Amino acid sequence: MDVNEFRKRGKEVIDAIADYYEAVNDIPPMSTVSPGYLYKLLPHEAPETPESFDAIQKDLQTKIMPGMTHWQSGNFFSWFPSNSSFPAILGDMYSSMFDVVGFNWLCSPAATELETVVMDWLGKLIGLDRRFLSFKEDGTEGNGGGVIQGSASEAHIVAMIAAREMALERLKSQGGISSEDADKQRHKLVAYFSDQTHSSGQKAANVIGCKTTTVPTGDDFRLTKQALEQAIAKDKEQGLIPFFVCGTFGTTNTTAIDDLPGIADVAQKESLWYHVDAAYAGSALTCPEFRPLAAGSERADSFNFNPHKWMLTNFDCSALWVADSTHLVNALSIHREYYPKVEGDTAFVKDYRNWQLPLGRRFRSLKLWFVMRMYGAEGIRKHIRDDVTQAKWLANQLVADGRFELIVPVVFGLAVFRIKPEALSDPSKVNQANTALIKAINDDGRVFLVGTKLNGNDVLRAAVGSTFGTQKNVDLLLEILKEHATKVIADLE
Ligand code: PLP
Repeated sequence: MDVNEFRKRGKEVIDAIADYYEAVNDIPPMSTVSPGYLYKLLPHEAPETPESFDAIQKDLQTKIMPGMTHWQSGNFFSWFPSNSSFPAILGDMYSSMFDVVGFNWLCSPAATELETVVMDWLGKLIGLDRRFLSFKEDGTEGNGGGVIQGSASEAHIVAMIAAREMALERLKSQGGISSEDADKQRHKLVAYFSDQTHSSGQKAANVIGCKTTTVPTGDDFRLTKQALEQAIAKDKEQGLIPFFVCGTFGTTNTTAIDDLPGIADVAQKESLWYHVDAAYAGSALTCPEFRPLAAGSERADSFNFNPHKWMLTNFDCSALWVADSTHLVNALSIHREYYPKVEGDTAFVKDYRNWQLPLGRRFRSLKLWFVMRMYGAEGIRKHIRDDVTQAKWLANQLVADGRFELIVPVVFGLAVFRIKPEALSDPSKVNQANTALIKAINDDGRVFLVGTKLNGNDVLRAAVGSTFGTQKNVDLLLEILKEHATKVIADLE
């Protein structure tokens, strides 16, 4: 493909993308294909000779499109949203254009410096404590800073690696022991999660090879200070070494907010690394009215949220800040001669390869820069507030219907609910009713949502948050929920 053909085809692709987005709101979000459908449709060898763009374009429409789940459809209410937006797509196109591997400043000065700048912008936009920013009030460099990771799961691993480094340093200094002897204690390190912490916490622990203790939550699904203290005391009696705790701001199941100030107290007393996982709900902190809910997170060691979930930025863009980067950089920096040292004043230059697992990194700050400039704080806040209003409206309508109950109050964009036992002639069939309801809705295919299990109960989750969705989509969801609830309840009579 030469540049002239690229120019022509590129315009066609933009048109195809624009056509897709013009219709996306009303697309049934679920694919109806069966597992293995694509393997049967595609050749089993890569082509020997070049194929035409038209042939690929045709296959995209006829073979790929049927197997797509349309996350950008306004009728997609599953998991959490994965927002795309036109500014982010355009920013990402420029990132593809440059295609730099920006692992250090020399690799592309702008890629490194823009990331530092936009991560400070973003930190300020969500009211993050100043400790997490790269630059202090007076413009001098601080110890903290932000870095864009691919996912909250990577952020969890990176934070835990820094935590381990901090713990081993502490063992050495407090115990007056050698690095080797401190290293021998690694197997005693324990990370703390609640039974509602996202699976990425356990995965991070599996990756770094530490023990974990899962602390039970109560009816409000929050990790409390007391429960954490009890778990730690028990582990210490066994000779284990607590080193890391995750507090969640907006859990996956219910958007519960852990006792963040209480966890901060415990973390301080026990010298734990305190990671706040705000993967989904962190975007709400762009709106000042949500910030009191995150009190306590200002005392964390690391804070993470995903603009790629609910802040209009295409996947992947997970924002991680650390209050003090020393342990992280010590743990991850490895020198080789092929990473030449940058000359000049490098006070404000971050070596981002030492802030993440891979070496290479995409120019992801570009899309975030486009989003923050083209929406402005105002536009981002409007997106969040509209979604919260719609989710609360849905919840109110469900309660008003009389056959549904909320499992928790709606705080952000997620409604968690079920057909209530009293709506059934045999209340013991409540789980059966709710699993049948999820299945009926997804078999119907006009909207897509997933359920979860809480305290042994099957419940439904509807996450409102699509960039392009409107109240009309939520109206449709409500209509479908009511329609299928009637059938499910009748079937169980
Ligand atoms: N943490 C929470 C609270 C989440 O809800 C999720 C995903 O939904 C994650 C972490 C993992 O996010 P990622 O896909 O960016 O790893």
